[in-house]
Amino acid sequence: MTVSPGASARPATTSAQLFERAGAVIPGGVNSPVRAFQSVGGTPRFITKASGCTLTDVDGNDYVDLICSWGPMILGHAHPAVVEAVQKAATTGLSFGAPTEGEIELAELIVDRVGSVDQVRLVNSGTEATMSAVRLARGFTGRSKIVKFSGCYHGHVDALLADAGSGVATLGLPTSPGVTGAQASDTIVLPYNNLEAVAQVFAANPGQIACVITEAAAGNMGAVAPLPGFNEGLRRLCTAHDALLIMDEVMTGFRVSSAGWYGLDGVAGDLTTFGKVMSGGLPAAAFGGRADVMNHLAPAGPVYQAGTLSGNPVAVAAGLASLRAADDAVYDALERNSATLGRLLGEALTEAGVRHQVQFAGTMVSVFFADRPVTNYAEAKASDTWRFPAFFHALLSRGVYAPPSAFEAWFVSSALDDAAFDRIAAALPAAAKAAAAATAP
Ligand SMILES: *Cc1c(COP(=O)(O)O)cnc(C)c1O
Repeated sequence: MTVSPGASARPATTSAQLFERAGAVIPGGVNSPVRAFQSVGGTPRFITKASGCTLTDVDGNDYVDLICSWGPMILGHAHPAVVEAVQKAATTGLSFGAPTEGEIELAELIVDRVGSVDQVRLVNSGTEATMSAVRLARGFTGRSKIVKFSGCYHGHVDALLADAGSGVATLGLPTSPGVTGAQASDTIVLPYNNLEAVAQVFAANPGQIACVITEAAAGNMGAVAPLPGFNEGLRRLCTAHDALLIMDEVMTGFRVSSAGWYGLDGVAGDLTTFGKVMSGGLPAAAFGGRADVMNHLAPAGPVYQAGTLSGNPVAVAAGLASLRAADDAVYDALERNSATLGRLLGEALTEAGVRHQVQFAGTMVSVFFADRPVTNYAEAKASDTWRFPAFFHALLSRGVYAPPSAFEAWFVSSALDDAAFDRIAAALPAAAKAAAAATAP
């Protein structure tokens, strides 16, 4: 998309200049791959500030934010209660390396909301949460093998990168160099929403499977909800074979309901992972579950897990303030806003005559250019993903910031207002036409 008249020409926008400068000192110019716009082309926007549902870039452009920092910002940006809590916490010390009362309050809040969780350990990222949950499952069961589903993303844990979603899907990678055969060989990858495949794998590996890890509802291949009975079936199979079920709610937790996906289908993981929304935009995450399993963690038990900044007081303050502010009115607004977004997407694409599916997983939304509902990663990859870059850029140039990948969910906040939806509605017809006009590679 960027047109450079000559090698020495200075890029036209400040974002492009910064991206060039970043590329010299940061691999690919970004600190997390999907931010680089690689699959949609063009130059990522460097952001200077955000407020409510609006992002502002270094060139002074405003965007309606439909990424919400990839999930966390359900209240919108710079929510007064969260900002105040962070400021207050910062003035009394940034990190102590000793326990604080706030950590108990956050753990109690999670335990109160999510009925399947008795105890919680705080960590710094979703990746750490899933990595630790898998280690704990192996330590608890004394077994090595784990089952994951293709297109599900659980952070960049070595053993969980196989056929992963999110940036791994965006970049079309089967796994990653640097993951050894030994790390990958204990991971069994199965198609999402296929219980029969899970039953067969349990039968073929008696007494060897430590856990099944699944996104409570898949959001990292686009929004793909579990088919009716899928999560229940995983629960039944894990119980029957003495394996643990790890519900990864890093994306869905505290977003799709006040109790996450568990609040919608009531299927209890033995362990559940959280991140994103629970820390209100600061680096914090958690895993929790049955007390008898969690008590295998050091120092109560033998499975080691630790973190210099775990339970950081500022991150905990942000998490507590966010979750406390996320009341029924916020969840009603998220429902309403995702329904409105989905309706607008569907209307514009239908009008433009593009075959498409607007899919929901709770309040997560995505668009697949396909003529049948997408239920797994193979179907997501078989959709007309080549239409997405034109769709994305037509929206972006009209001030609507969707995720820069065909394999990501779109995230609404409770801060989206009528003006934001007017802007989305105004941008969509041209974007839908651009998608319709795109040609297969
Ligand atoms: C984002 C995500 C992760 C990883 O969390 P990070 O904080 O990015 O490490 C894990 N699982 C799911 C389902 C996610 O969406």
